[in-house]
Amino acid sequence: MMQNTRRTAIKVGAVVGAAGSLGLLAELLKEPVELAAADAALPASPSGEPGWSNWSGINRCQPTALLNPQDEKEIVEIVRNSSATLRCVGAGHSFTALVPTDGTLISLDRVSGVIDAQGTSVRLKGGTRLAQLERELDARGLALHNQADIDAQSFAGAISTATHGTGRELQALHAKVQALRLVTPAGEAIECSATSRPELFRAAQVSLGSLGVITEATIEVMPAYRLHRQVWLKPLDDMLAGAQELAQQHRHFEFFYLPFTGYAAAVTHDIDTGSEVLRPESADESMLQHLRQLRDWSGRFPKLRRWLAQKLIDPGQREEARDRSWKLLSTSRPTKFNETEFHLPQEHGVACAREVIALLERHNDAYFPLEFRFVKADDAWLSPFHQRDTCSIAVHAAGGEAYQYFAHEIEPIFRKYQGRPHWGKLHTHRAEDFAALYPKWNNFLEIRKQLDPNGRMLNAHLRQVFGVAT
Ligand SMILES: Cc1cc2nc3c(=O)[nH]c(=O)nc-3n(C[C@H](O)[C@H](O)[C@H](O)COP(=O)(O)OP(=O)(O)OC[C@H]3O[C@@H](n4cnc5c(N)ncnc54)[C@H](O)[C@@H]3O)c2cc1C
Repeated sequence: MMQNTRRTAIKVGAVVGAAGSLGLLAELLKEPVELAAADAALPASPSGEPGWSNWSGINRCQPTALLNPQDEKEIVEIVRNSSATLRCVGAGHSFTALVPTDGTLISLDRVSGVIDAQGTSVRLKGGTRLAQLERELDARGLALHNQADIDAQSFAGAISTATHGTGRELQALHAKVQALRLVTPAGEAIECSATSRPELFRAAQVSLGSLGVITEATIEVMPAYRLHRQVWLKPLDDMLAGAQELAQQHRHFEFFYLPFTGYAAAVTHDIDTGSEVLRPESADESMLQHLRQLRDWSGRFPKLRRWLAQKLIDPGQREEARDRSWKLLSTSRPTKFNETEFHLPQEHGVACAREVIALLERHNDAYFPLEFRFVKADDAWLSPFHQRDTCSIAVHAAGGEAYQYFAHEIEPIFRKYQGRPHWGKLHTHRAEDFAALYPKWNNFLEIRKQLDPNGRMLNAHLRQVFGVAT
């Protein structure tokens, strides 16, 4: 997901300010940019109906019951006493339609908190929000190895879609899970780990909420640490050429391409052994607004837009920050968007990014930065990083604006490079596609069928994903 606006204070305000002072622009660019028309391949825009809705508003449902059990005992009772379809919801931050159901929706918001910590092994409840987890860990002198761009997600929701951060040597959150406890669709509470029911464990680490309700987990964390963040701009070609090397040099490296500018922002985080706290005021939102304004003013004239950006962005800008890891790695995202992200074999990352950027810049309405990250391989069966060191490429569209071109124009590029879609971000892959991408796909399907022969925990989206008839 896009981080640039929050993590960097790299300014495009100067660009917009200067552009606005050109009378020429004011005359030429009075009308708003025309946005591409939507079509039916991905979820339609919000209908305005009441009921549950995901963060971006494109997935809605009206469940017959929305339940907030307070412990595992209540969850077992719900599962045993209901005959309806069951789905779990965390923070509702997935863009794919994993959650919607007209049956029973279970939220684990009250099943939350750290249970205990032994060394760097921590037991927690499934509904714990990541923001709360970070704080509870910090209070014990501990921290997560890595974090995603935001920390609003629930723990169970985050691992269920293989939520990740960036770092060539750093794995996604689910890879740090040592044991999981889940209430199966038959209402039985079971525990699994790498040594106890190992096959179920490898399946349950990333399971799209299809194997049961995750009530508890044990995770490996590390002693609390501090980070030093550096942000700087580079011309896109230089950034692409240097990306692998920067990823080797820094604990966390990612870059954001600012569409139609020719520039990308590098963001690195490295262990900081000092004690100084340096937190420049965030220019995140204003930068995004400036990029949008530039788009609104010059969007129909890409050459002009590029010319303005080239003239007015100061490529010498640098920013830095120093603080505790969890305070730098994740923040909130006030501006709504929709997103697609694919995970590619690391050796294809740069070539794929070049093609995606060229395609993105055929869409004059695009202005959200493209995000490029690194993730280390793991062994979970449905992990998009399964036995493959990865580059992840994410493309965003502002809330309320068209994103259907993700499916028709951008996804074919990802497919060409054997991209595996992020489970929580927009894609049109189906069971046969996944079968070709995941060596353990059939093993997962077999376990899912054993645990849930009647498809109690499937909704329409998951039936398509797993190839199960309605
Ligand atoms: C602004 C924003 C920023 C994001 N940044 C990143 C990022 O940096 N990196 C990244 O990888 N992703 C990112 N995402 C995607 C997000 O991390 C995932 O979609 C994640 O799954 C959301 O967690 P959630 O708690 O909201 O889960 P939900 O979307 O509510 O649910 C996700 C899945 O988990 C299942 N589930 C939830 N709770 C349970 C439970 N107790 N037991 C069993 N199944 C359960 C649900 O049924 C569903 O299948 C971002 C999304 C947004 C909106």
